[in-house]
Amino acid sequence: MLNLHQAEFIRSAVKTADFPADGLPQIVFAGKSNVGKSSTINKILNRRNFARVGGQPGKTIHINFFSIDKQAYFVDLPGYGYAKVSKGERDRWAALLETYFTSGLITLGIQIVDIRHKPTADDKTMTDCFLATGQPFVVLANKLDKIKKSELAGNLNTIRETLLLPEEVPVIPFSAEKGTGRDEILALIEDHVAAHSTQA
Ligand code: GDP
Repeated sequence: MLNLHQAEFIRSAVKTADFPADGLPQIVFAGKSNVGKSSTINKILNRRNFARVGGQPGKTIHINFFSIDKQAYFVDLPGYGYAKVSKGERDRWAALLETYFTSGLITLGIQIVDIRHKPTADDKTMTDCFLATGQPFVVLANKLDKIKKSELAGNLNTIRETLLLPEEVPVIPFSAEKGTGRDEILALIEDHVAAHSTQA
């Protein structure tokens, strides 16, 4: 079991040398700006203001590493798809992401999408980056509290079809607001960390 109380910010990385390379699993959270990525990390950790919520979208082009119980890292990728960023910022984002995705350090990918909407081209690009790592990958369909029950199956299907997800990739309905889906993603994370430590 992971002691989630033992969570601490390690650093904001802007280059390869900043990435922790101690062999611990790196659980990577990605999502469009405003999709609820910070809220999701906070909900999983049962914290209020651990990862920043609702700040300036698109302004943070660094990768935040958090140590979880000295057994794993939560990795908070900078949000994407914010309309008002300059080409320079977009290029910096892409270069940093490319550096991290080719580092071989990612062990579990978690992409957060909005359950209400068809995923964007940027979402699809992000999915493809995760799939290319060959590592386990999960999609969290956030803001479940904002749709009707009758919309659930159809919306999940749209997400799966738009992102062209392989069958083994789960799409987990989630609400960072209500905590729905938290047990499921936490169990998945704990299984992943446990499997990793028996390998090492
Ligand atoms: P980030 O930019 O992806 O880190 O998004 P934030 O975590 O800052 O959340 C963006 C906004 O969406 C905030 O106003 C959150 O309160 C809201 N939000 C996040 N998750 C949920 C959710 O599951 N349900 C609802 N209703 N609102 C959410």
